[in-house]
Amino acid sequence: MQFRDLQRQYNLLKPRMDQALVEVAASGRYIMGDKVVELERKLADYVGVEHCISCASGTDALYLALRVMGVGAGDAVFVPDFTFFASAEVVSLVGATPVFVDVEEETFNISPDDLERKIKQLPSGLSPKVVMAVDLFGLPANYPAVCAIAQRYGLLVLEDGAQGFGGSINGKKACSFGDVATTSFFPSKPLGCYGDGGAIFTDNGEWAEKARSLRQHGKGADKYSNIAIGVNSRLDAIQAAILLVKLEVFDRELALVGRHAAKFASLMGEKTKAPRTPEGYCSAWAQYTIRCKDEAEREAIRERMAEKGIPTMVYYPTPLHALPVYAQDKAFPVATQLSRTVLSLPMHPYLTDDEIELIASTL
Ligand SMILES: *Cc1c(COP(=O)(O)O)cnc(C)c1O
Repeated sequence: MQFRDLQRQYNLLKPRMDQALVEVAASGRYIMGDKVVELERKLADYVGVEHCISCASGTDALYLALRVMGVGAGDAVFVPDFTFFASAEVVSLVGATPVFVDVEEETFNISPDDLERKIKQLPSGLSPKVVMAVDLFGLPANYPAVCAIAQRYGLLVLEDGAQGFGGSINGKKACSFGDVATTSFFPSKPLGCYGDGGAIFTDNGEWAEKARSLRQHGKGADKYSNIAIGVNSRLDAIQAAILLVKLEVFDRELALVGRHAAKFASLMGEKTKAPRTPEGYCSAWAQYTIRCKDEAEREAIRERMAEKGIPTMVYYPTPLHALPVYAQDKAFPVATQLSRTVLSLPMHPYLTDDEIELIASTL
């Protein structure tokens, strides 16, 4: 069994995918171009925002988003303590300071209560600038609460939707929340390509233009009139072609993972404590993550699963504040507890009923 079976997806899409790949090879245009323009238009429409700017990875998308918002030295960016490293890494990369916020036990996402506490307790010398909320494991963060707090304190909101693409709150799609949103097309994300890729979403035309410039060496009116210090972070035509094929079946895949999650819940019951999907929310189920009693139980479950050929993963074994590069001696009780007890099970659209039943009965 695969943790996320990308070959099954390819086998299903093979005729269309092979044609798309060969078309790009034959076109002689390999970086950006028509396919990328078409993809950006379709993604913006899908999400329901004005502008989509593709780039080379989800990490670059976050970096570019912080740059267009003008985040730099002396600025504080509030980041959940329980997420993938890149969420905080880019904050440090632009010279700003990540201020970690604990997460909610029920959803694993940024805690609005702790966010407000951390804003109020901000050390002097840092100016509060951005709240970065992460749609962890596919579930959109509590944007109604996060955006209300941000507004009260004059902060911008950045949605890290790397795992959230496809999710929604009352029909409003992930990657449309806050002032800027980003996603990743890393192969194992809900919408993945066959390499690295990412995108930025915003309704702000000025920021969109700035992101387009920064992703291409800070280009001006033309390629060689540089107006800013940027980066080389473009999407390849071949990745855009792959994503266009996958986008056609994406809603069907979302329905499948939703069905699998419901089946897991009904077979394994409440005691697994997967994140609760609040009323009106829809998760993209990038991961199906349960909570064990403690580390010893988690190890025992992992071993038993491995004996049956079921791969499992621990996302994430260390909360960000405790990583050597940040090493903060502060209390983040929920993130710390989650890092010791979470266990992610195989989850993807093409799991079979037999596989789901084997995973559940093994647990
Ligand atoms: C994967 C991921 C990223 C980074 O995306 P890449 O495309 O791998 O650079 C950022 N944030 C979160 C929450 C992620 O899961």
